[in-house]
Amino acid sequence: MDDIRFREDFKHLVDLIDSSRAMTAFTGAGVSTLSGIPDFRGSHGVYTDPWNGMDVEEIISLDFFSKHPEVFYAWAKDVWYHLEDYEPNVVHRTLAVLEKKGILKALYTQNIDMLHQRAGSKNVYEVHGGPEHHHCTKCLAEYGYDYVAPIVRAGEVPRCTKCGGVIKPDIVFYGENLDENVLQSAWRDFSNTDLCLVLGSSLVVQPAASFPMIAFRSGAKVVIVNAQPTSQDYYATLRFDDLGQTFEALSKVYG
Ligand code: NAD
Repeated sequence: MDDIRFREDFKHLVDLIDSSRAMTAFTGAGVSTLSGIPDFRGSHGVYTDPWNGMDVEEIISLDFFSKHPEVFYAWAKDVWYHLEDYEPNVVHRTLAVLEKKGILKALYTQNIDMLHQRAGSKNVYEVHGGPEHHHCTKCLAEYGYDYVAPIVRAGEVPRCTKCGGVIKPDIVFYGENLDENVLQSAWRDFSNTDLCLVLGSSLVVQPAASFPMIAFRSGAKVVIVNAQPTSQDYYATLRFDDLGQTFEALSKVYG
C-alpha cells in the first residue's frame, strides 16, 4: 500500500473509531508475530513445513494427543511453554489503551499466548482457550501453567500427581468444541457491535472465523488488517496489510 493511500485510509479508520459506540476486535496469530511468536499460515507460518514429518494440525488434534501426548509436548515446548520470553507489542498495547479509554468494548482472540492480558486488556475472550489452566485427562484435577511449564521444558509429559493421568492444557484442540459461554458472548457482542477490527487472522479456523461475518450481517463496519488476502475481504470497509504500520500510527493518535 503506497503512502498516500495509507494516509487516506488511516484517516478514515480514525473517523470510524471516533464515531464508534461499540467497537469490538477479533485477533489471530498475526498480531503476535511482531512479538516473535510464529503464526500458522502466514509467510513464515509453522504450517509451511511439517514438523518431523507430521502436520501441525494433526499434532494439535484431540485424537492424536490422546495417543501421543509426548509428540504434542515436544512440539509445544519451544514456544507455548516459554511464553514469558515474549513481550506484548504495539498491537496488544494499543488495544489495551483503546479499552481503557472506553472505545473498545470486547476483544476476542484466537491466540493462546496471553499477550493481550499481559498488555493490560481486561475484557478478553480466549476463543481457543489458553495454557494458563490445565487439567488431568483422567480425574480432571486442575494444574496451572507455572506447574506444568517447567516439566514440559525439561522434555517430559506432565502427569497428574493424584492419579498419574496425562495433563492437557485447556486449549481447544482440533476435534474439540468451543466453550458454549464464549460462543454465546461472541454472538451477543458481534451482533451488537458497530465497528469490528479483524487483526492478523487468516479467517480459516471455524467457527471463530465467522464472528466478523456476524458483525457485518448485523450492520457493523468491518476493518481487516492482514498481510495476506482473506476470503472475507470483499465486505470490509477498509483493508490494511501491515499491523505494525497501522498500529504504530494508531498508538500515536490514541496512546
Ligand atoms: P493464521 O496463522 O492462520 O493467520 C495469521 C495471519 O496473520 C496470516 O494470514 C498472516 O498473513 C497474518 N500476519 C502475520 N503477521 C502479520 C503482520 N505483521 N501484519 C499483518 N498481518 C500479519 O492464524 P489464525 O487465523 O489466528 O489461526 C491460527 C490458529 O492457531 C488460531 O486458532 C490460534 O489459536 C492458533 N495460534 C496461536 C498462536 C498464538 O497464540 N500466538 C500462534 C500460532 C497459532
